Amino acid sequence: MSRPKKKVYIKTFGCQMNVADSEQMALLLAEDYAPTERVEEADLYLINTCAIRRKAEEKVRSLLGSLLAVKQRRPQMLIGVGGCVAQQEGERLLTAAPHLDLIFGTQGVYRLPEMVRRAASGQRVVDTGLTLGFPAQSRRHWRQGAVKTLVTIMQGCDNFCAFCVVPYVRGREVSRLPGEIVMEVADFLAAGGKEVTLLGQNVNSYGRGLADAVSFPELLRRIDALPGLARLRFATSHPRDLSPELTAAFGELPSLCEHLHLPVQSGSDRILQAMNRGYTRREYLKKVAELRRVCPGISLSTDIIVGFPGETEADFQDTLELAQEAAYDQAFSFKYSPRPQTKAATLPDRVPGEVQGERLTRLQNLLNELTLKAHRRLVGQVAEVLVDGVSKRSPEELSGRLRTNQVVNFTGSRELLGRLVTVELTEAHPHSLKGAQAEDPLPLAVDPQAPQRRATC
Ligand code: SF4
Repeated sequence: MSRPKKKVYIKTFGCQMNVADSEQMALLLAEDYAPTERVEEADLYLINTCAIRRKAEEKVRSLLGSLLAVKQRRPQMLIGVGGCVAQQEGERLLTAAPHLDLIFGTQGVYRLPEMVRRAASGQRVVDTGLTLGFPAQSRRHWRQGAVKTLVTIMQGCDNFCAFCVVPYVRGREVSRLPGEIVMEVADFLAAGGKEVTLLGQNVNSYGRGLADAVSFPELLRRIDALPGLARLRFATSHPRDLSPELTAAFGELPSLCEHLHLPVQSGSDRILQAMNRGYTRREYLKKVAELRRVCPGISLSTDIIVGFPGETEADFQDTLELAQEAAYDQAFSFKYSPRPQTKAATLPDRVPGEVQGERLTRLQNLLNELTLKAHRRLVGQVAEVLVDGVSKRSPEELSGRLRTNQVVNFTGSRELLGRLVTVELTEAHPHSLKGAQAEDPLPLAVDPQAPQRRATC
């Protein structure tokens, strides 16, 4: 008779890479631990942290503080901290938070079962070693009917943007073998999966350093050729490395969704140079224009930092103008905050907090307008929605995404969960669209009998 498993609760902060790492943690621990959503029944509490901005790090520290009382009530529960803050702080976290049992860095994830065993035997464990080469992955298993998945294709980053802590906490860039990636996607599709998002800090430079030098567009082609794949996405792309071949893929590969996240960070050449981004505003906008030429319906999203050291009002105006010209469908914007070890943390001419706040408000007003405009342009269209849940607003409504990544809510039976549904878009809202299931569905790309259908290109 098999012994009952213990329970692990995993709290994830930050980006999709962290979400994928948390899945990997659950998988690696599966022999001894079953996941739980209830903290009070957890034998092991893991926090996967993010250090990209000071605010994210503060949230982690506040959670750690609140766990002290939990540990006092339930001293047998092990608490572990992993991810970027753990990588950055290492031993210092153990000293600052005596209720922690385990600290593991961004690559320590792969050594987690052994570390947990040591922590369970009473040791306090720290592992923040970074290795060369892509760590061996456990073969993943999906339940039948899984809809979407994240697949990590590379780790680390060699770009050293002046504001970014990633190269310090995730190490040098390393690509995973293409055969392993294709096999993982094929396994997911065999379980009925429909949408795959390939992940890396800068997927556009995928393949550098591999003995069998496969470019990122070639990897996309190999995955696109797998039978049954409805939607293929990827994140994140560095604009400097967006090649003509990759741009062309948006017009060629049927499964590749018409959405690209292309972080610009600033619209000022002076600031882009200080950020060490490796492109000018003109080069960026040229790439945007080419993407729109190849794939006219493509939706673009971006990240923008305001108040980088030395940013003047004129630099900020350049950013506003660039956002207008790029006509982003969606954008994530933040106030600059200094990160340990980064070059920008040593730069003079810090922009005062109130100026940063005022610029952020102006920028977000513009970005919200652009998003609403983009949503309004979609009203009246009939489009494919991959239904991935029940709407947060109403239990009668389902929620899903267009190929172009906008959220759509519509009334429908729960039998449609996990399916591709044709929806007429009827209303534009600031963060989503409303729709109605179409009477006469279009043939969907996932139907092997149907002709492959581009949604918007
Ligand atoms: S490309 Fe720049 S912003 Fe992106 S992870 Fe690398 S260093 Fe950070």
